[in-house]
Amino acid sequence: LAAQSHPSHQTIVKLSETVSFGGEELVIIGGPCTVESLEQMETVAQKLAAAPVQALRGGVYKPRTSPYAFQGMGEAGLEVLAEVRSRYNIPVVTEVMSIAQIEVVAAHADMLQVGSRNMQNFDLLRALGQAGKPILLKRGLAATIEEFVMAAEYILSHGNPDVVLCERGIRSFDNYTRNVLDLGAVAALKQITHLPVIVDPSHAVGKRELVAPMAKAAIACGADGLIIECHPEPEKSVSDARQALSLEDMVNLVTSLKPLAAAV
Ligand code: PEP
Ligand code: MN
Repeated sequence: LAAQSHPSHQTIVKLSETVSFGGEELVIIGGPCTVESLEQMETVAQKLAAAPVQALRGGVYKPRTSPYAFQGMGEAGLEVLAEVRSRYNIPVVTEVMSIAQIEVVAAHADMLQVGSRNMQNFDLLRALGQAGKPILLKRGLAATIEEFVMAAEYILSHGNPDVVLCERGIRSFDNYTRNVLDLGAVAALKQITHLPVIVDPSHAVGKRELVAPMAKAAIACGADGLIIECHPEPEKSVSDARQALSLEDMVNLVTSLKPLAAAV
């Protein structure tokens, strides 16, 4: 179901009345790694809605490496997302980690994110076939392109046609950058599937000073959108502080990407 047909076509995944992935417009999703408070998300939403970005991100169920690290605000965080969503009239994207969370996340968010660590959680993928919301499927930490496409196939074959693929870097031998951004995969996925493909330069490089160049490269190789982490006080971010852009840098980046997106 994910495979490109001949003649080729492009699936459009609708996020809201005005925002779709896979069409003419580049879709930029911005926001913190983790939802920390209503004040934090208000500040983010106010700055980014004006940039403009097309959607907000923020995790409330966080897949942390350590069980002792902050695990996210949970349902209280979903309330925060729903509040800024309606106040700023902007769609929100957040991660769902388990089948049990699908219903409540779908009730508050416009798009459900499957994180890298869950890309091959096949029970979760099957259940998301019936979620009734578009899915942002992130590539597994060490998943091949074939495995990535097959993970999307699980969601599609269980009844949900609205899947957006996200390249977020893969593990390699070099730990100078957090992961290695596989832009070849972006070009390949655009050729072999009809699904929209976006890029997460933040988790790919793990260092804020490398986010902008990779965002530009992603657009040049055909990405349909970007998901980028930013925070009102980047160094104080409860998670992924090292890769968070300031809101000012985020707005400047979004502005600088516009002419680039128009040119490809
Ligand atoms: C995230 O987007 O916050 C996240 C945890 O990303 P990934 O699943 O790609 O590591
Ligand atoms: Mn993060």
